[in-house]
Amino acid sequence: MPERIVILGAGHAAAQAIDTLRRRGHRGSIVLVGDEPHLPYQRPPLSKKYLAGTHERSRLLIRQARYYSERAIETRLGRRALQIDRRTQRARLDDGSDLAYDALLIATGSRARALTVPGADLDGVRYLRTMADVDSLRTGMESARRIVIIGGGYIGLEVAATCRQRGLAVTVLETQDRVMKRVVSEETSAAFTAEHLRNGVNIICGAGSLEIASHAGTQQVRAVVCDGCEHEADIVLIGVGAAAAQELACDAGLECDNGIVVDLHGRTSDASIYAAGDCTSHPSARYGGYVRLESVDNAFEQATTAALNMLGEPAEHDSVPWFWSEQFDLKLTITGLASGHDTVVVRGDPTSRCFSVCYLRGNELLAVESVGNSKDAIAARRLIAARSHLEPHHLANPACGLDRLPANSRPAN
Ligand SMILES: Cc1cc2nc3c(=O)[nH]c(=O)nc-3n(C[C@H](O)[C@H](O)[C@H](O)COP(=O)(O)OP(=O)(O)OC[C@H]3O[C@@H](n4cnc5c(N)ncnc54)[C@H](O)[C@@H]3O)c2cc1C
Repeated sequence: MPERIVILGAGHAAAQAIDTLRRRGHRGSIVLVGDEPHLPYQRPPLSKKYLAGTHERSRLLIRQARYYSERAIETRLGRRALQIDRRTQRARLDDGSDLAYDALLIATGSRARALTVPGADLDGVRYLRTMADVDSLRTGMESARRIVIIGGGYIGLEVAATCRQRGLAVTVLETQDRVMKRVVSEETSAAFTAEHLRNGVNIICGAGSLEIASHAGTQQVRAVVCDGCEHEADIVLIGVGAAAAQELACDAGLECDNGIVVDLHGRTSDASIYAAGDCTSHPSARYGGYVRLESVDNAFEQATTAALNMLGEPAEHDSVPWFWSEQFDLKLTITGLASGHDTVVVRGDPTSRCFSVCYLRGNELLAVESVGNSKDAIAARRLIAARSHLEPHHLANPACGLDRLPANSRPAN
């Protein structure tokens, strides 16, 4: 069992790894290094209730300070890890100190992708990844009347909903022909588009050339010019996805490929270094190939697995991926991964604000998107985990609950 454990990155995965390590009896030292000045906190409320101002800052913390002190966790917050020296097993921090480790966990998450269009560096152009980003966005919103959001993914749309509820005029510019195209079906895109339109958000899909313009003679943003049309803005929020924060691992010579490559045990290409959460690319026995996921559930599950393996308890990460988003009063839950499906079945009326879209491969249920339908979401997790095979015509009947459908674990003929 390793005596000294160092964790780089202080987010969801780090918090979960600490909990597992101490619960499972690790008595050696644990040092937590995070470049933000905060203990691990929950990111999902950032674009929702925290941005809306209805969620106190203290409620964001995953665990309060006392939890860490009672478990003798040494914290180095506001400190960035700069380098991992694998030969000497030390991590160097930006204050010049270095930390010796017997086992290291990289949990550095992901970073907002930067948009490189003219004017992207003007005052009033913002990204949303951290508590500090939201604090400054909220300050800007106090005097703003109009926000233009570049990117109709889930973060852009959640911010659109929150800003609209706070009375701002909101325009969303999406380059694809529908919102959230990368992650959801046409039906789900249409349902969320309708919800936004109903609430007064202006959504423009198929947005082409973009440029951000300033007030004459200043650096202050004035408008986003899209395909020759001007959309006036006091604030521009860029939400065009995130990339794995993998530099530390790449520089240290660990295998990286759209994320730090780990095995089913959360181990990197160096046996004493583990990685978990958004920064990883991990093999999926269930779906085949490697996947990089950005969800709280994935960070939680991977961190648990990595911590157990660090302690010599064999564990494999193969849980069913799970993600949620909330926009206005509509909740989306995505269970499983749709890639590789050959059949799509819609359960219920997609205009009803309560329906699900099911993805199958050879009748095996791979993934379910549930809109306003938490019952289906809960049942889907169990069915997908059991590799259930379902008849499409049974699935298509919304009157029959997913949890009551006849399922088997062998292919249907
Ligand atoms: C606005 C927003 C809304 C979201 N909503 C949802 C949602 O509704 N549902 C859902 O499932 N998921 C949601 N997510 C995604 C979810 O928050 C992430 O998947 C999750 O935070 C990943 O956890 P993590 O521990 O891997 O990384 P993070 O929580 O990002 O933590 C990584 C930490 O490491 C720090 N770090 C990076 N490099 C270094 C370094 N070199 N040295 C020290 N520290 C470093 C980072 O600054 C960060 O504090 C949302 C994310 C955002 C940004």
